[in-house]
Formats: sequence, structure tokens, C-alpha cells
Amino acid sequence: MRKKKVTKIGVLTSGGDAPGMNAAVRAVVRTGIYHGLEVYGIMRGYQGLIEDDIFKMESRSVANIIQRGGTILKTARCPEFLHKAGRKKAYDNLKKRGINGLVIIGGDGSFRGAVQFSSEFDIPCIGLAGTIDKDIYGTDFTIGFDTAVNTAVDAIDKIRDTMDAHDRVFIIEVMGRDAGYIALHSGIATGAENILIPERKTDMKNVIKSLREKEKRRKLVNLIVVAEGDDFGGADEVQKLLSKQLPKAEIRVCILGHIQRGGAPTCMDRLIASRMGYHAVECLLEGRYNVFAGILNNKMHYIPLEQAVKNKGKISDEWMKIVKILAS
Ligand code: ADP
Repeated sequence: MRKKKVTKIGVLTSGGDAPGMNAAVRAVVRTGIYHGLEVYGIMRGYQGLIEDDIFKMESRSVANIIQRGGTILKTARCPEFLHKAGRKKAYDNLKKRGINGLVIIGGDGSFRGAVQFSSEFDIPCIGLAGTIDKDIYGTDFTIGFDTAVNTAVDAIDKIRDTMDAHDRVFIIEVMGRDAGYIALHSGIATGAENILIPERKTDMKNVIKSLREKEKRRKLVNLIVVAEGDDFGGADEVQKLLSKQLPKAEIRVCILGHIQRGGAPTCMDRLIASRMGYHAVECLLEGRYNVFAGILNNKMHYIPLEQAVKNKGKISDEWMKIVKILAS
């Protein structure tokens, strides 16, 4: 392993916010300071890098934030960083301050940015998977997923009470544009009869068939959890079709939306964010560069960022089988 000693590090949160990002920032700052590094907070992700919105952080800068959702460093989407000229500005700002290591807490888009940035400039980057969607290859957990899925479960449980009381069909849309993990986990945990996700072709014929059978038994209670990125087009499209096919049924839609992003992180998210943040700094000190710090089988795993953005996690067929069997 090479390499120049890392002495000053920057930390930023980028892309979609996720509960637990603050816990990760706290862990990075405090671990860095423990090792005698200077730690800089960068506001609004890559935007703040480009605009030089960077400030020195102390241990007390991250006091009382472990339990807070959102991110004290704010986050943003930054089109300028997609261009080399933008990334050059970002590099110049780091260079000017002598920052020679970067921790990026974000989703796969932010990781793509890190891959690009570290390939063009001499700045080691460590990624921490901060995304409610859990759509990052090579880790069992991403920061924010557990909180989001528990928020969804809590909301669906409440909806199930009224669904049951009125014998209704409910279609609940949860977040997940490209990945169905929130739908799958929350759907299994709430006993959903159907779970529709982007990773599997949606078979509406089958859904309609099972609803017709239930209708015959005069017990048309049915919970359908659909990921927003499902190939059939989300909850509203599913409702349109079902209303046509089952005109007597009361079919309601609830789109959970941004509620899934906010709120205090669960214990699990605080724990994994703390572990990942600690190990991100260790990576920089050990010269393990341009990786993301994930957790597999409860052990830290370091996967090259380049590999992470090229691969996708796979939904287990066994889980899909469990959904079918338990709903019957
Ligand atoms: P997330 O990290 O949550 O997936 P985005 O996909 O919006 O969120 O990505 C966050 C930011 O990362 C983008 O606004 C952009 O600044 C940067 N980014 C994404 N893809 C690239 C890329 N291919 N090259 C450079 N920067 C990128």
C-alpha cells in the first residue's frame, strides 16, 4: 500500500437524505479527531465542495445529533459535479485547504461521483452507503434503510386496521424507484398478500385471480404493497386496473411518500452508521482508498467503489417464495 499520509479529511452527505447520516458524520468526526486528524464538514454534498462551503469541525460540532434524522451538513443534488470543470473546482478547494482524504455519505449516484473524482484527482475517497433504498451492492445494510422500513411497517399496520374493519383492498406505495427492498421487507413484515417490485415482472393476472377468489368468499380484504418503481407503474396504475376488473370492490390507495425519509434513526441505523463512520476513517489511515465500508454477515467489508457502482444487489427468490406461501 502506498501512500501519502492522510492528515486532513473532509466529510459530506450527498444525494437523497437518510436517517442515520448524522450518526455517521458524528462517527467520522470523532474518530478523525481521536487520531489527531483535522476534520472538515462540507455543506450540501458536492455543491459545497464546488462552492467552498467548508468548515472545520470539532468534537462538539457533532454533539447531540446521533438521534436526529436528516443531516446537519445538508444534502443536495449537484449537476455541476457531473462535469470535469465542476470537479476541478471541487479539487482546487480541497487542495487549497490541504484536505487529503474524503468521506462521502450517500447513495449510488454519490458513489459514481466519487469514482469519477478519485480517478481524475489525487484524492482518496471512502464511501458510506447512506440510502433508504438499500440499493447498494456488497452490504447487508445501508444507513437509513432500517428506519425507513420501520416507518413503513408502522404506517401499514395502522392502515391494516381500517382496511380490516371495512373489508377493503388497500394498495400502499412505498419508496424504491429502482429497488424493491422497502416494499419487500415492509410487505413481509405486515403480512401483505401481494408485493410488487421493480426487480420482478408484475403479474397482474395473478393478483386479479386471487382477488376474484376472495370476492367469491365475500372476504375481500387484501393488502398490496407496491414499490414506486414497479414496472406496472405504481399504486395509481394498479388501482385503475383493479377497479375496472373488480367494480364491486372498495379499493383504496395510500402513497406513503416522504414520511419514509424522516424521523429519528432506529438503534440499528445508529449502530451501523457509527461502525461504518469509524471504519471509514480507519480506511483512510490504513491507505485502503476508494472503497466503501459495508457490512456483510456482521463483519466490515471493503468493496472498491468502482465495483459497487457496476453491480446490483439481487432480490432472493426464496424471499419471493416466502411471500407467496405466507399470503395463501
Ligand atoms: P444518490 O447518491 O442518493 O443516489 P444522486 O443520484 O442524485 O443521489 O447523486 C448525487 C450526486 O452525485 C449528483 O447530484 C451528482 O452531483 C453526483 N453524481 C452522480 N452521478 C455522477 C457521475 N456519473 N459523475 C459525477 N458525479 C455524479
